[in-house]
Amino acid sequence: MAGIYLDHAATTSVLPEVVDAMKPYFVKEFYNPSSVYQPSQEVRKRIEAVREQIASFIGAQPEEIYFTSGGTEADNWALTALAGRKGRRGGHIITSTIEHHAIGHTCKRLQQSGYAVTYLPVDGRGRIHIEDLKRQIRRNTTLISIMFANNEIGTVQPVAEIGEIAHKLHIPFHTDAVQACGQIPIDVERQQIDLLSASAHKFRGPKGVGFLYVRKGLPLQNLLEGGGQERGLRAGTENVPGIIGMGKALELAAKTMETRRVKETRMRDYLITRITKEIPYTRVNGHQWFRLPNNVNVAFRFVNSESLLILLDMEQICASGGSACNSGSAAPSHVIEAIRVPKEYKNGVLRLTIGEENTMEEMNRVVTVLKAKVAELRKESPEYEDFLNQEQSKENGLEEKQE
Ligand code: PLP
Repeated sequence: MAGIYLDHAATTSVLPEVVDAMKPYFVKEFYNPSSVYQPSQEVRKRIEAVREQIASFIGAQPEEIYFTSGGTEADNWALTALAGRKGRRGGHIITSTIEHHAIGHTCKRLQQSGYAVTYLPVDGRGRIHIEDLKRQIRRNTTLISIMFANNEIGTVQPVAEIGEIAHKLHIPFHTDAVQACGQIPIDVERQQIDLLSASAHKFRGPKGVGFLYVRKGLPLQNLLEGGGQERGLRAGTENVPGIIGMGKALELAAKTMETRRVKETRMRDYLITRITKEIPYTRVNGHQWFRLPNNVNVAFRFVNSESLLILLDMEQICASGGSACNSGSAAPSHVIEAIRVPKEYKNGVLRLTIGEENTMEEMNRVVTVLKAKVAELRKESPEYEDFLNQEQSKENGLEEKQE
């Protein structure tokens, strides 16, 4: 059997239709959209059509969409541009403890330059509590940035409730929707979102392209100096093939969202049920209901996830121990710490993220391999041996008492 890819939260393969849509813009339609001649103007029209399409997908206006080089850039831009709003140097940002590093590290940098940042805690399933948010709002709060859905545990935040509070108090609300966009419905009007980041490579588009939505009227500072692209706010010749590819990918994602949701949720729940039933000393991380359709995050006691990932790789199964950005680091991720995974489970985290090309047959194989590999690793674990000995002596003690 060919390899099984279960790391769609890290990235997805580009759909062939997307590649086909991009191809002409490398050679035949290579023109710079800022030039005055006709072929350039045709390219300009095409990228403006993508802007309209993205806007309509999230319920925004085309002039509220800015193309970026991906999610990281959109996140950095949103925070740095809005943190010091109204010239309030030393403003206050509210975010959460489980944001992607594109947000977390930017917040740390803003703190170093004088901003105050409040990191809202999350509960054991990874959700912030609205009451905590309300309590932390200050007179000088300039921005609330809470992710739509988490990249490690898949937990979806109460976005509409956050938007409602932010709007009542006239505080801009940014959400990192990199994992959510293309997977679950987004409506910036209904959910009262003021800024939103997304990235094409998470919904079967190309890497290195994304967008930032910014509600009209917000004082967005420019990110890059240079030409007048993106209304003078993000200079640089547009990544035309990337933008075209992102448009095509989003068009297809919109069409298939519901069927993918049903299919992936079924596979997700099947995996979770079988893994927790058939492999003892296993826990599920994240939320049972407010969870991305494709996210499975489990932790095995007496197992080191780095070793497990290597064994899975040898079986041609691609998975992740936490955020892709954290791979190579043995320490439990900030998300795993934030949801207070018990210490016996912290080092045995496994993230499996499903995609539309996965099959039920693959799910079955993954469970079979996991059962074998977890057992293999436990056999080599001195902690597991100690644990079994302790259990045995407890049992013997019980038997003696009963006699
Ligand atoms: N935000 C989240 C939640 C992510 O999962 C990622 C990537 O994994 C990013 C931001 C960064 O996006 P990009 O890879 O497009 O820079």
